[in-house]
Amino acid sequence: MEFHQAVREVLASLAPVVSKHPQYADSAVIRRLCEPERQIIFRVPWVTDSGRIEVNRGFRVEFSSTLGPYKGGLRFHPSLNLGIVKFLGFEQIFKNALTGLPIGGGKGGSDFDPKGRSDAEVMRFCQSFMTELYRHIGEYTDVPAGDIGVGGRELGYMFGQYKRITNRYESGTLTGKGVSWGGSQVRTEATGYGTVFFVDEMLKSAGSSLDGRKVLVSGSGNVAIHAIEKVHQLGGRVIACSDSTGYVLDPSGIDLELLREIKEVRRGRISDYCDLRGGQSRFVADGSIWDVPCEIALPSATQNELDETGAAALIRNGCRIVAEGANMPTTPNAIRLLVGAQVQFAPGKAVNAGGVATSALEMQQNASRDSWTFEHTQDRLSKIMRGIHDRCLETADEYGSPGDYVAGANIAGFTRVADAMLALGVI
Ligand code: GLU
Repeated sequence: MEFHQAVREVLASLAPVVSKHPQYADSAVIRRLCEPERQIIFRVPWVTDSGRIEVNRGFRVEFSSTLGPYKGGLRFHPSLNLGIVKFLGFEQIFKNALTGLPIGGGKGGSDFDPKGRSDAEVMRFCQSFMTELYRHIGEYTDVPAGDIGVGGRELGYMFGQYKRITNRYESGTLTGKGVSWGGSQVRTEATGYGTVFFVDEMLKSAGSSLDGRKVLVSGSGNVAIHAIEKVHQLGGRVIACSDSTGYVLDPSGIDLELLREIKEVRRGRISDYCDLRGGQSRFVADGSIWDVPCEIALPSATQNELDETGAAALIRNGCRIVAEGANMPTTPNAIRLLVGAQVQFAPGKAVNAGGVATSALEMQQNASRDSWTFEHTQDRLSKIMRGIHDRCLETADEYGSPGDYVAGANIAGFTRVADAMLALGVI
């Protein structure tokens, strides 16, 4: 279902492209792009602390290697299935193309649930997962990274096992590594920071800025935390964030240190936030964060988290911008409502591309055995985000939909991959 939704969304933008350039239709580029080059599904057996044997399913969908090695994250979440991995991999092709960097598209993961698991259990799972995955990946072949449920800890265990099996210190085979063992500065922050850089560009092109803006950021994982941080640095105020149990409202601005302590150190739930924070903060169990009045909303949790009801509430309360920090968090009907109400809407494949772009910068540093400073890397990221933003608007203009970020992102991503596919022949 999610895969078809992602494909439909891209195809809906392509009519003007195909009528202007019939060679794309003649060479079946779209049909070829919709079929992954390779799909790998494997068994991941592992042993719990109490000695029980668990069996999970592992996936890697190698979607497109036209522009570079397959590139995309690994997601560990109990809801993961082949359809979700395919939707994420499909989106990744266009997102990665849009960055202008030499990376193809892929995605993977497992239905393993890291919640409530000990460090030792997570390690044994990651080692078993990599014991199968290692034969399919490599710096010139396929370069996984993190996604939901996969961060520095998991990547460390996977890189360790890869290094052990292959007897090679092949840094460029995984990105999102720790900075002391081949990682890049800013990679952890990049998806959230990049999201806010993109929004800043949207505001600038309308002669405005983030200063004093009230912002909602759904989620409270890696993307949300760093989006909140960058909004605050640029003078905006994030007044609410969420997890699957509800949302936290904090009118004086989310206390980032406290949120990080709860999420990153304790690996707890955000319901603890208000007990510790006090003041005017409030936890709304099972509530919808979209009911909170704001000017800018950044859905940064997961797919289809913002539906028509959420969109209607945002419109009612005067929200002006919705930009997707997560992958496909807004349902097609919600997008239609927002756009119909003149809310500026920017899709994840453009907005959240800073994460994978910084992964490509990590690959560059690994290939040259170099490591750049935080300032230099952040500067590269901000220029890449400006480039993506401008490319979306210019492309939308060129194809007769001025201001339409969805059309701009889909068309600019598609034409870059499609032109390369034409050059490489029918493969
Ligand atoms: N999972 C991230 C995404 O959705 C990053 C992928 C990567 O860095 O390879 O783009």
